[in-house]
Amino acid sequence: MTTNEQQDEQQEAKSYFSRNLLEWYHGQKRDLPWRRHRNPYYIWISEIMLQQTRVDTVIPYFNRFIERFPTVESLADAPEEDVLKCWEGLGYYSRARNLQHAAKQVKEEYGGQVPNDRDAVFGLKGVGPYTAGAILSIAFNRPEPAVDGNVMRVLSRYFLIEDDIAKGPTRVKMERLAAELIPEGEASHFNQALMELGALICTPKSPRCLPCPVMEHCSARLAGCETSLPVKTKAKPPRPEERLAALIEGRGGHAGRVLIRQRPSSGLLARMWELPHWPAPPAEGGASAALLPETAAQDRLRRSLLQAGIFARPEGHWMAAEHTFSHIVWTLQVYRCREEEAPALPLAAEGRALYSAAAGNGAASADAAATGAAPGATAGLADPGSASAPGPADPAAAADYAAASAAGAGDRSATSEGMYNAGLTASVPADLFADGSGPVERFADGSGTAEDAGAVRWINRSDMANYAFPNVFLKLLNAYFDEQEGGAV
Ligand code: SF4
Repeated sequence: MTTNEQQDEQQEAKSYFSRNLLEWYHGQKRDLPWRRHRNPYYIWISEIMLQQTRVDTVIPYFNRFIERFPTVESLADAPEEDVLKCWEGLGYYSRARNLQHAAKQVKEEYGGQVPNDRDAVFGLKGVGPYTAGAILSIAFNRPEPAVDGNVMRVLSRYFLIEDDIAKGPTRVKMERLAAELIPEGEASHFNQALMELGALICTPKSPRCLPCPVMEHCSARLAGCETSLPVKTKAKPPRPEERLAALIEGRGGHAGRVLIRQRPSSGLLARMWELPHWPAPPAEGGASAALLPETAAQDRLRRSLLQAGIFARPEGHWMAAEHTFSHIVWTLQVYRCREEEAPALPLAAEGRALYSAAAGNGAASADAAATGAAPGATAGLADPGSASAPGPADPAAAADYAAASAAGAGDRSATSEGMYNAGLTASVPADLFADGSGPVERFADGSGTAEDAGAVRWINRSDMANYAFPNVFLKLLNAYFDEQEGGAV
């Protein structure tokens, strides 16, 4: 075959692909909520949610999200806690934060309208080449390619491309090819058709070639190698990390509640709420922490709790749970712990006062949510150094707080945990910190510092509605409250 004939054949394969795919899409496309409108805001939200997440999972989240934040402005102006709460369970929370950041950009720079402009859309936070292409093509019918893993799989197979799709130059090549395939005036439907084919027919493990609308000219199918494409080098597996977690059950005034803490304001799962947890020391020979002797794990956990200024005694292993990030997998060994009376410590008055105030603030936090205030803003615990932070709500604690403040006790610029630690270190055995594991160890995953961490709350089940939790803690808390209520774990 001459070069010209080869080029003609290639051109015919491209035209056939575009024509048949569009025709198939018009007859087979799924009725998805974001497809019922050409609202660029809805399309943008759906594309961000669909990253790493299945369509079936996204649908209820999408519906709730646009009901709660129907416009760019409403998203831009919402408290971040509300946005995270709406995202709770979807994972990859930086997507939600970036989305809100970008909504502010759209509100301030483009009058609340998603811009119909390539550079402007590319400039929005969290919007990469795929999402930009999807917004520009689907919402504005601009002939921009939208190439993600699904699309690269389809193109690799149909055109028998054996380049590694994990490599940047392959993506660029695919984008060029995908742009060439867009029929004039049909960018919106064509890009959605390509995504739909990858999702419904040309699936990763078992492509359904028989009903495939482009089967006749698919090079991989003709060569019988469709399941060995695309070529993709494996990403490094996430690093496993064993952690000891404390499910602290309240007593006395906190009966029926458990203690949660807020993560630092930057880094992994920033500002979300969780059960306190710390890296586990390796068991003998570097084995899993699951193999640590029970008493050794509990001793270590108690020590970490004390260092954090939390008075609680581990009472036994409750369950194990996993949380997977792209680069790390936490295995949490969760211990049930019993709240203990805070000892009278000479320097800890202010810290204890704040701790007590936080302890009683489940209801206060619910009030805060009702009035739209951030949960952490109520008790003065989240930011005791702030001029706007109110003092503790508890009268006895308030007296302690006032006395401590008047005496200038503690470091007012540190968190309450820091202050509590200051008191604690004055009276606990010196060898407690001898291994160098100071409070910073609490965030040894590199996700923030002790200085901006540490608000704690005692919550019951209904208080959970006021805080955003990563999936694993949501599941653990629900399992615990189910167990308390006699339901299934
Ligand atoms: S024929 Fe098979 S391998 Fe080729 S595009 Fe269709 S489903 Fe994918």
